[in-house]
Amino acid sequence: MKLETLAVHAGHAPDLATGAVTPPISLSTTFERAADGTMPHGWVYSRYSNPNRDALERLLAALEGGTAAAAFGSGQAATMSVLQALHPGDHVVMTEDAYFGTLKLAREHFEPWGLRFTFLDTRDVDAVERALTRETRLVWLESPSNPLLAITDLARIAKIAKAKGARTIVDNTWATPMLQRPLDLGCDLVMHSTTKYLGGHSDILGGAIVGREDDELFARVRAIQGSGGAVPSPFECWLVVRGIRTLPYRMRGHCANARAAAEFLAAHPKVETVHYPGLASHAGHAIAASQMSDFGGMLSVQVRGGAADALRVAARVELFTRATSLGGPESLIEHRHSVEGPTTRAPVNLLRLSIGLEHPDDIIADLEQALR
Ligand SMILES: *Cc1c(COP(=O)(O)O)cnc(C)c1O
Repeated sequence: MKLETLAVHAGHAPDLATGAVTPPISLSTTFERAADGTMPHGWVYSRYSNPNRDALERLLAALEGGTAAAAFGSGQAATMSVLQALHPGDHVVMTEDAYFGTLKLAREHFEPWGLRFTFLDTRDVDAVERALTRETRLVWLESPSNPLLAITDLARIAKIAKAKGARTIVDNTWATPMLQRPLDLGCDLVMHSTTKYLGGHSDILGGAIVGREDDELFARVRAIQGSGGAVPSPFECWLVVRGIRTLPYRMRGHCANARAAAEFLAAHPKVETVHYPGLASHAGHAIAASQMSDFGGMLSVQVRGGAADALRVAARVELFTRATSLGGPESLIEHRHSVEGPTTRAPVNLLRLSIGLEHPDDIIADLEQALR
């Protein structure tokens, strides 16, 4: 079935007990045993699994083309579970342009814990190949990256990593499975912050790892999910499932609006650079066009001048909201340099835009008056 159909139906069936078309939220933490001690419905205790989380995990696995998924209480909890599934002494090659929080976890928590990291520009496939050693267990990729929208060739890196016995994981939060399916490109695991486009309404925090049931690393992630308990509540799982039902159509709107905004900004005299992989001028455009079906709803813009000029634009917007995060129906704008602190790689004149689902004319009119 096509993605639109899976988004509506996978993990979503009328309730057997009541016939309710929309599945109920099962808040129960515990499930009844039969007289012989077995669990007739398969659920025992909701930290291990529950009906709403199972539904979300089946849906995510179907959309990404995996066979299993593990849902977490945040994207960061999902990332943690993968790093915790490695052993002290293991080596990880990680994109230096990863989500700020991913790099923070790696540097502040997992380096002291004994993992060894090489951070590099994964657009350089040869550099990735040179960094792989016999101890490398994992290559951590993010494409498009945050906040520079750098594009990494996922299939080429998955292939060279596999040849050296390392797994590849892709943070697919910005693309979503509607635009990019890393498992189809040979990668082993996909990570999501479901807080963003999958939830889609800026009202839940969640994360997930998608992979294959028979993968030993995924099995360790699953075990950490159950034993560690960094899991989403049934209500949050229900909300993400609900959000995903409209994801294919929301992504069309985000992509079309972002393309229009990127084209407007690229032609504006107060703009130095627009980072949007859908523009032919973007360094990663050709690779993006080969591995993505569209270019997403995120873009960054470097305005002419310095930090003060960028902050002035952010101060003047009226339709955009000055806030962190992304993937909701409302357009957001953020000066990443000032929110990320001293280790930031974001240029001082950069603004990150999450383009929402308003009419593109209104989005562009707001950017135009803010840049005036
Ligand atoms: C938001 C985000 C995360 C972290 O997810 P949380 O749900 O905030 O924990 C990781 N990666 C990317 C690309 C993100 O945008």
